[in-house]
Amino acid sequence: MIAEVIVDIATSETDRIFDYLCDGDLVVGSRVRAPFGGKVLPGFVMRIKESSQIPEARLKKVLPSSDELPALTKESLFMAEKLVKRFRVPKALTLRLFLPSEMRTGKVRELYKTFAELTVPIEKTQIRKTAKNQIGVLEYLDKHGKTDTATLNNLFPGGLSALEKKDYVRISKEKILRDPYKTVEGDGEEKTLTPDQRSAIESIEKDTRTVQLLHGITGSGKTEIYLNLIAKCLEKGQSSVFLVPEISLTPQMLSQLRARFGKNAAILHSGLSAGEKFDEWWRLRTGEAKIAIGARSAIFAPLENVGVIIIDEEHDSSYVSESAPRYSTFDVALLRAKYNGCKLVLGSATPAVETYKRAKEGEFNLITLTKRINQKPLPEILIADMRREVRRGNNSPFSLVLQEEIEKCLQKEKQAILFLNRRGYSQTVICKECGYVAKCEACDVSLTYHRDEDCLKCHYCGGRYAMLSGCPECGSRKLSYAGTGTQRIVESLQKLYPTARILRMDNDTTSGKEGHYKILKAFGERRADILVGTQMIAKGHDFPAVTLVGILDADMSLHFSDYRSGERTFQLLTQVSGRSGRAEEKGKVVLQTFDPENEVLRFATSYDYEGFYENEISLRAAMAFPPFSKIVRVLVSGDDDKKTMEALRLVYTELESLYQANTEKFLFFNKMRAPIKKIQNKYRYQVLMRLSDTSILPIIYEICAERRNRDALVSVEENPSNLS
Ligand code: ADP
Ligand code: ZN
Ligand code: ZN
Repeated sequence: MIAEVIVDIATSETDRIFDYLCDGDLVVGSRVRAPFGGKVLPGFVMRIKESSQIPEARLKKVLPSSDELPALTKESLFMAEKLVKRFRVPKALTLRLFLPSEMRTGKVRELYKTFAELTVPIEKTQIRKTAKNQIGVLEYLDKHGKTDTATLNNLFPGGLSALEKKDYVRISKEKILRDPYKTVEGDGEEKTLTPDQRSAIESIEKDTRTVQLLHGITGSGKTEIYLNLIAKCLEKGQSSVFLVPEISLTPQMLSQLRARFGKNAAILHSGLSAGEKFDEWWRLRTGEAKIAIGARSAIFAPLENVGVIIIDEEHDSSYVSESAPRYSTFDVALLRAKYNGCKLVLGSATPAVETYKRAKEGEFNLITLTKRINQKPLPEILIADMRREVRRGNNSPFSLVLQEEIEKCLQKEKQAILFLNRRGYSQTVICKECGYVAKCEACDVSLTYHRDEDCLKCHYCGGRYAMLSGCPECGSRKLSYAGTGTQRIVESLQKLYPTARILRMDNDTTSGKEGHYKILKAFGERRADILVGTQMIAKGHDFPAVTLVGILDADMSLHFSDYRSGERTFQLLTQVSGRSGRAEEKGKVVLQTFDPENEVLRFATSYDYEGFYENEISLRAAMAFPPFSKIVRVLVSGDDDKKTMEALRLVYTELESLYQANTEKFLFFNKMRAPIKKIQNKYRYQVLMRLSDTSILPIIYEICAERRNRDALVSVEENPSNLS
């Protein structure tokens, strides 16, 4: 027989499918080792056929791998096929998504241990009294039963091998599963569902649409609904996929899931060791585990007969992959749900505007939960006007209200979280006296300061503006475009409260596998009074003793030069506020801003998602931003400036003729330098488009796939969350 094999070469830009001779029992989807150019490389069997165009004498033979099952399921192959078609990426690259990377390289294998057990009752053995180690082994095995040989050899050197020769013991080899979560906390008990939860589940089950949007405020019991849906699938013998943002994969949450579902749950995330990932993955592949829990990439889990797919915090930006092959988790999940004929459940307290629109228009089933389980009110949000603070002469990062609240909190021996919103901060120009922000006249998004050219630029249209020397609104010269780091916040905080114990959490302090878990754990154990941090502290843990949350610069993400900044800000503020007052005491939130009249902040402080949505969607419609259009960026990057420019020229020429022939489908079309023209020593150029009609999207992908070459990477991004 002949196998068509994709040889997995790290640098392959195009697919290499080769014919190989194979044995009759080789199965499609199997991993193989393929002789290739003097080496043996890993590969995948894509097809089995009777004969080849190439004479058999010239074909080499593939060697099978030691896998007990083909690594790729039928469903994986189907999805890979679809993704290749949709995104025009090489197959080899796409197939990699379906396996843990450690497995591809072949560096991780099953872990085996050897065990010893008695073959005869201890009374029937005859050992000299002086052979202490042999007697030791016998007695140990008699008492404890089967034991691993390492332990025995350690305790009684030499005893075991002597007994083995006498046939008193049997040695066997067993596969050991590396279990990432040996300690299980929580009782895992099922809760009696509230009427709201019950009717939500009923609605999800009865409705015929594939996509179900669960819009429920924080603490409304969404998680319990997910677990219930998963449990029902398990009863029917079906498997489930449960996706959460990486940051929510806290040890507590995982051990709770383990308590509830035991060995049926397998966990895939970046914090696992290579061996653990390998074993968890195979437990899913063999069907021993039926629930895949993990961040974005767990959508590719090797499950069969999927009964439900859940995406928690569906609005989270971590669900969009930023490296090749780029994919949106929602698209892949929808594909999987359709293949399996199952439901795709999206959950969020603050759904993405795009998702909510589709739900409101009836494409998705919309289920709303408006009550918290424990009936506790949401924390009260106070607004501190930072312009007034500056005028009063308070130049510290903390408003007087916040200082007062921190003092009260420390006195009562409660905990506080101070949140610093650093995203895009250092690049935006803001007037400290009146709150004015420099915006693009054409696009109504804030401008970004480019130090190298000393000018302001719009990332959506490439518009250039001269750097300001003073505020055009009030004339003040107090313009700020340099962010305050968490470190400086901690320093000034410590000066104000010399005895307070302060912890800091940001990118600098959380390096290492468990960096942020450690900090959160210390805070949870009340080894600190105040936690200062960035985005990272917005989600995750439940801290019952936290009664105060301070948001130091609420509007900073509002002025991020992105059409989604209003949405991001609303989501972030809602999430951060949710950290306060989780237990007995009512929580408080102090939100500091230079722009207290801003609508987004107003809606956030009154927890009014509906109001926010209506406002936001009409803004988007007015500016023709997504979901009323699609922003497409074609990014060309390469090591050599000239060759990269040449590749850009070729892509641009073709895209431009597409544009000329279809101008009515474009709202915007322009070639320019990428805002950051060099990242990691790669030169970057881009073609930016805004489409009012996406029917030509496949052609854009095709043009780019054809122009990809050894010297230049050409990638296509849809509604990119980052235009740098
Ligand atoms: P959400 O995911 O919507 O933010 P959770 O599912 O975390 O909300 O629920 C909030 C709290 O309410 C949790 O502590 C959870 O254990 C508890 N809870 C959820 N459902 C029930 C129920 N039916 N009975 C009692 N407690 C519940
Ligand atoms: Zn001003
Ligand atoms: Zn613009």
